[in-house]
Amino acid sequence: MTAVAEHTISSAVQGFLNGPKKLYIGGEFVDAASGQTFATYNPADGQKLADVAHGQAEDIDRAVRAARTAFEDGPWSRMKANERERMIWRVGDILCARAEEFGQLEALDNGKSVAIATAVDVAWAADVFRYYAGWATKIEGSTVNVSMPFSPGGEFHAYTLREAIGVCGLIVPWNFPLLMSSWKLAPALAAGNTVILKPAEQTPLTALLLAEVFEEAGFPPGVVNIVPGFGDAGAALSGHDDVDKVAFTGSTEVGKKIVDAAKGNLKKVTLELGGKSPNIVFADADFDSAVEGSLNAWLFNHGQCCVAGTRLYVEDTIFEKFTEAVAHAASQVKIGPGLDPTTQLGPLVSQEQFDKVTGYLREGIADGARALTGGNRWGDQGYFVEPTVFVDVKPEFSIVQEEIFGPVVAALPFNADDGPITAANDSIYGLAAGIWTRDISKAHRTAKRLKAGSVWINQYNGFDTAMPFGGYKQSGWGRELGASAIDLYTQTKAVNIAL
Ligand code: NAP
Ligand code: MG
Repeated sequence: MTAVAEHTISSAVQGFLNGPKKLYIGGEFVDAASGQTFATYNPADGQKLADVAHGQAEDIDRAVRAARTAFEDGPWSRMKANERERMIWRVGDILCARAEEFGQLEALDNGKSVAIATAVDVAWAADVFRYYAGWATKIEGSTVNVSMPFSPGGEFHAYTLREAIGVCGLIVPWNFPLLMSSWKLAPALAAGNTVILKPAEQTPLTALLLAEVFEEAGFPPGVVNIVPGFGDAGAALSGHDDVDKVAFTGSTEVGKKIVDAAKGNLKKVTLELGGKSPNIVFADADFDSAVEGSLNAWLFNHGQCCVAGTRLYVEDTIFEKFTEAVAHAASQVKIGPGLDPTTQLGPLVSQEQFDKVTGYLREGIADGARALTGGNRWGDQGYFVEPTVFVDVKPEFSIVQEEIFGPVVAALPFNADDGPITAANDSIYGLAAGIWTRDISKAHRTAKRLKAGSVWINQYNGFDTAMPFGGYKQSGWGRELGASAIDLYTQTKAVNIAL
């Protein structure tokens, strides 16, 4: 047990860590079929936090059967929409009531600051459940004014129904474990689907605590199943012939494997994948807010964000002053363990991620980039990396092309004649982009030409539950959040009656 944990966590979290952490299948907490467990670690000190039941293909199969039974025979899909609404709303209420517990557990398992985990991850997850609770009663088909040219003289009544898809496999990453789960669970459930959630191997704990919340909220058995495990469990879920849809957030590389695995039964697939998002600062921007916003763009969640604005394009006339200011701000950030309430930048999630990010730091320097600040590991334990601002970079460097998923930004100048668009769009990804300018026409023109699913102007990470979110190019298929997610967790039935 980690020393940090012993001294600062609540008795509820301590109790959870000390208790058995089993799979949640068919409304029961059960051991893995193999009887095996795996360890999850505190990235602030590398110490083991807990052992968790290790779900594999056989457990995924059990969970799919439970979800199928709950969908076909159980009360869920036949339940009145307002009953589903109230139950999903209750999840939001319970999350708020247990926010401290969820926040601490997320900080311990992922490494993020407990203040952010509570104020952003948990609070937003609760908001997502409440938003989609409201949708349950607002999913509608339409009546269609058909002409029926091959049946002259007949009289018809035609309409559409929006129906649940069925059994949905939800696979989430470790960067926002609870929040990414909520983005998928809430719309899937509001639409009447049943689900199997597979959290990331690095961060299974809040997903298991969430199982308690679904119990407390009164969900019928089998509607929500939670099976922690490794990539093989995710592969079993995405390849399972009795799963109707898989929704995935994670790397583009695994996203392509999901597409392959889904071919067997042509299950529906939505993908929210990687990014290498451009953040563009024009010379006429409000300097101070652009510095602060640009720091947030690449450093939020330690850079472990799919939307991280890690290609910083700055107009050449202010390039030096601006990058120096960003580097200075980055050097002032308070680094420490997530459980310290004053921490602004915590550790990366795992040894693997630490090795990957420090590898990019070495590669950037070997390629000829210069670190205005950072460039090294921080401290001598845990997976901390200094916030790093690279200049003197060329577009072809790996630190400009590849998703690093750590606190690292590459800054490049552009001039007013050429503009930033060609460079900004030079990526296999197209998830998000930022624009900083006081010129409203320039802002809209630039937004239109960027190939990105989200564009934020004079802000970054401008998310809202009601706004659709997803990627252009290799950043994904489909959209999460907003009404779009309801579309992607329902299918349309066309009904036509000869009167
Ligand atoms: P990942 O492998 O794509 O993991 C995402 C989820 O997919 C996890 O639950 C993972 O399980 C599961 N998974 C792994 N292999 C699978 C397979 N063959 N079939 C189905 N599911 C599978 O991401 P990662 O390895 O944790 O991180 C690698 C890189 O991906 C990061 O460095 C970062 O660049 C990127 N990433 C992007 C996002 C994003 O939000 N876009 C999030 C996380 C990571 P396990 O955890 O057990 O492997
Ligand atoms: Mg992995």
